[in-house]
Amino acid sequence: MIRLTDIGEFELIKRFSKQFMKNLPEGITGIGDDCAIIYLNEKETLLFTTDMLIEDRHFLLNKITPNDLGKKSLAVNLSDIAAMGGKPHSAYLSIGIPSKMKVEWIDLFFTGIKDLCLQTGTYLLGGDTTKSPDRLVINIGVIGTIDPLKIKKRSTAIPGDIICINDVVGDSGGGLKILLDEKPLDRYSSYLVKRHNCPRAQIDEGKWLAQKEEINAMIDVSDGIESDIHRIMESSGVGAEIEINKVPLSEELSNISERYNWNVQEIGLSGGEDYCLMFTVPENYIDRITIEYFQEFNRPLYNIGKITNNPGNLTFTMDGGNIEFNKHGFDHFKSRNEKI
Ligand code: ADP
Ligand code: MG
Repeated sequence: MIRLTDIGEFELIKRFSKQFMKNLPEGITGIGDDCAIIYLNEKETLLFTTDMLIEDRHFLLNKITPNDLGKKSLAVNLSDIAAMGGKPHSAYLSIGIPSKMKVEWIDLFFTGIKDLCLQTGTYLLGGDTTKSPDRLVINIGVIGTIDPLKIKKRSTAIPGDIICINDVVGDSGGGLKILLDEKPLDRYSSYLVKRHNCPRAQIDEGKWLAQKEEINAMIDVSDGIESDIHRIMESSGVGAEIEINKVPLSEELSNISERYNWNVQEIGLSGGEDYCLMFTVPENYIDRITIEYFQEFNRPLYNIGKITNNPGNLTFTMDGGNIEFNKHGFDHFKSRNEKI
């Protein structure tokens, strides 16, 4: 008997997905990237993605407002559209609601969804509503569109490329720790909790990056850099080297980590739910794109490492030497990394 806890989420997906990846009609790319890709015509390609959030697994009802939960449920899907450079079109929301829920709570949840729909130009076009035995279950599917020539994939990283991210990491992981450890809320800890409960999908940044031909591969960081760089490595058949000192961390996370003696680099690398974008570009283009990105968004890009031609091998360096870093990002079945 094979236990789910032995193989983990990613092995499980690999195990069943192969049979569905073969013999697809031309123009369709299925399982394996942030979104499925369905070619329509020379101008337009459809992107489709879906993500599920389960009470007590992905959120605790008493630790998040209904408005934030509505926004977060949609944002995590919009982030997958952003990861390929797409523009969101419409969302489809299925929800399993236990009888304990108050209708006013559900109203506020939908207000959150509506606010983010309005902000991002996404239309809620359908879904399904059902009773759930005792936990709230939310699943959203999102359709996006993109010019077929602009799509960014996980599978196209090239050895020698620089690995970049477009935001600090670890805030959300830190916020989750604040909630789970029931730490007091002050200016810093509240900021981290907000980053955890209300992530922003980087749609405009994704669309902008997709216009840059030089960018070879892109993914959104949902499970943590350490885990998501593996997705790029596996899809592209490459290795990677990450310089731990270059991984950007917020002042808020550094402050709180010092206070509670947390390993801030570990949270930064594998906290998960950052929803920033990680992409790879040839070395000779990095300075130019960093300047152009700053001109456009008034924020920096962070160069955190390099793609190598050592397939499957991820190394971490610190102060010029290799170091061991065994933590893995959030894998939903393996028990070593229990989170909500
Ligand atoms: P993401 O974190 O971007 O949502 P994942 O790494 O979780 O992506 O998933 C990897 C790939 O596996 C995606 O292409 C996703 O659509 C696919 N996938 C995951 N679970 C299933 C499933 N139950 N059935 C079909 N495809 C799945
Ligand atoms: Mg993703």
